[in-house]
Amino acid sequence: MKAKITVLPGDGIGVEVTREAVACLETIAGRFGHEFHYEERLIGGIAVDQTGSPLPAETLATCLASDAVLLGAVGGPQYDSLPPKLKPETGLLGLRAGLGVYANLRPAFLHDSLIDASPLKADIVRGTDLLIVRELAGGAYFGQPREITEERGLNTMAYTAPEVERVARVAFEIARGRRKKLSSIDKANVLESSQLWRKVVTRLAAEYPDVTLEHGYVDSCAMALVTRPTSFDVIVTENLFGDILSDEASVLTGSLGMLPSASLGGEVELYEPVHGSAPDIAGKGIANPLGAIASVAMLLRHTCQLENEANLLEEAIRRTLEAGYGTPDLKSQPRQLSTTELGAHIRSLLTQ
Ligand code: NAD
Repeated sequence: MKAKITVLPGDGIGVEVTREAVACLETIAGRFGHEFHYEERLIGGIAVDQTGSPLPAETLATCLASDAVLLGAVGGPQYDSLPPKLKPETGLLGLRAGLGVYANLRPAFLHDSLIDASPLKADIVRGTDLLIVRELAGGAYFGQPREITEERGLNTMAYTAPEVERVARVAFEIARGRRKKLSSIDKANVLESSQLWRKVVTRLAAEYPDVTLEHGYVDSCAMALVTRPTSFDVIVTENLFGDILSDEASVLTGSLGMLPSASLGGEVELYEPVHGSAPDIAGKGIANPLGAIASVAMLLRHTCQLENEANLLEEAIRRTLEAGYGTPDLKSQPRQLSTTELGAHIRSLLTQ
């Protein structure tokens, strides 16, 4: 197959891990005869330095003309004092809005070889394999009115039925391809927006009789994630709850450097590791590239519909960890490698 991919390495370790991820994609392309065409563009702090904008118009235009976008990370302490419209993170929010993505997928999968890296007891966390679908374009982060005065801060959590339905549909489809269980998380005992959420998800369930749907409250879900994480398959929830729950889920699996994400539903899909630009280790050659490489596996699966290739890449990550390889963030791994060495090891498995 052919695909046009815009590559946005961004700042700090974003550059280092994206290089390894693209190299893996190239190895897959070579092995299976796919043609991936790459355009590299600026975003974040480096874009501010070179163009005066964290999301140059040319970057967004290139992204919109491609099949998928692969992002590294943005940000750095040297940009913290810039006005909001120049901050690297504003570029990222602008990119998500410009692409129109509304479903953010964050898998949390614990490799057996990393059980000791989890803060939970092995017996509780072993076998964790869940995926959170977070609504990304609505809820309290975007609802109007919003304001702040000296005496009062106001935000609005609002959802319409179509907004709920489109993200719930993504979640049902994904659950259908996994273990066929969907947990819809809300606060319907208190919030009207959650009552609508529950009603719409329940209605949609009729189209997915093969998927078992359960509803839960966000407070009890927060507890269940650390007491019985293996009971979840796919979780779907609104923006604010998803922001918090997905960070909670991410720490179950060891290192932040391991975790991929995909943002779907818009004109063009966006893939990025969950971590930031990690200024504390940038330039040292020790960043874990596995989150970025696993993001490429998601790109192969969701945008390119290449399930076999996605599985091959995920299997290479699993075998690498099982053999004891890792970067310094994975302290329990006995065979410590640099970013480029770990990337090269994954690629060597892709051609076997
Ligand atoms: P961070 O994710 O960059 O780093 C948190 C900690 O995890 C650091 O100790 C870092 O060394 C470690 N870490 C992260 N990724 C790693 C990897 N791949 N390998 C090894 N260790 C890794 O979060 P932060 O320090 O809070 O933020 C740093 C900058 O990144 C800030 O400017 C922040 O705004 C930005 N940020 C960007 C994104 C994004 O681009 N999506 C996400 C989060 C933070």
